[in-house]
Amino acid sequence: MAYKPFDLTGKVSLVTGGNRGIGLGMADALAQAGSDIVIWGSNPARNAEAETTLKAHGVRVLIQTVDVGEEAQVVEAMAEADAKMGRLDTVIANAGIGRGAPSFVDMTTEIWRTNMRVNLDGAFWTLREACRSMVARAKAGDLGGSLMATASLGALQGAARNQAYTATKGALMPMLKGIAVEYARYGIRANAVLPGWIATDMTGAAQSNDKFNEAVISRVPMRRWGRPDEFGGVAVYLASDASSFHTGDILLLDGGYSCF
Ligand code: NDP
Repeated sequence: MAYKPFDLTGKVSLVTGGNRGIGLGMADALAQAGSDIVIWGSNPARNAEAETTLKAHGVRVLIQTVDVGEEAQVVEAMAEADAKMGRLDTVIANAGIGRGAPSFVDMTTEIWRTNMRVNLDGAFWTLREACRSMVARAKAGDLGGSLMATASLGALQGAARNQAYTATKGALMPMLKGIAVEYARYGIRANAVLPGWIATDMTGAAQSNDKFNEAVISRVPMRRWGRPDEFGGVAVYLASDASSFHTGDILLLDGGYSCF
């Protein structure tokens, strides 16, 4: 028998914020590995574009327009995805925004709450409802599931003028570890993925800023920005049976930035 643990045929993966950037990089690889896909995003036009891209891989694709900052939308969409796709094997709470301030003392409560609403409230509701679905399936005799959240290198290092954003990311790690401990008995695993500097819409301004590239990107040992497609491998690994004993962990993909 050939070793094929990365084959995701028959599995269903849901990626929030999956219509572009890191989330689409993950979803695209999951689809290429054979997984059916559910994509959430708040922008219908971007969702439709991603649907076309993903369907080219010959898997079933469901797109749902969801604002993860609205609890009722998350609850309803997760139940609908479960019913329409028949199961949920992997759920990645990846949707995120980054709202900074000119300085920490200028950081308003509105900026704080805007980051919290999407990055932390949204991830909490997404992971809770995903867990609910996986536990129900496990209790019916079909164990297993993989939960992930996209945190950030900033969760470990912090970031000047972005304290609200990094606080949301730091909170994801203990949330996932707690899920990992509580739900291991159902075969459910939970891990955090921490990107370093990745070229997406979120970092558009920094990418075109020469000073930033000289001061920061030149210190990345890989000497470049990361690409969204470079998150496909970790998504497929964590969704697959290859990672069946890997839970409660933090996987840092930063081109070596944090150790230089
Ligand atoms: P992008 O801005 O390219 O993509 C963000 C995604 O999140 C989009 O699909 C967007 O879809 C979705 N999204 C945003 N708000 C909501 C919402 N309220 N409800 C549903 N979906 C939403 O960013 P990245 O790909 O760079 O970021 C992905 C994740 O990676 C984020 O959590 C980010 O914090 C994290 N990260 C990114 C780093 C980087 O360097 N790029 C570094 C560290 C972490 P739509 O517009 O349709 O709502």
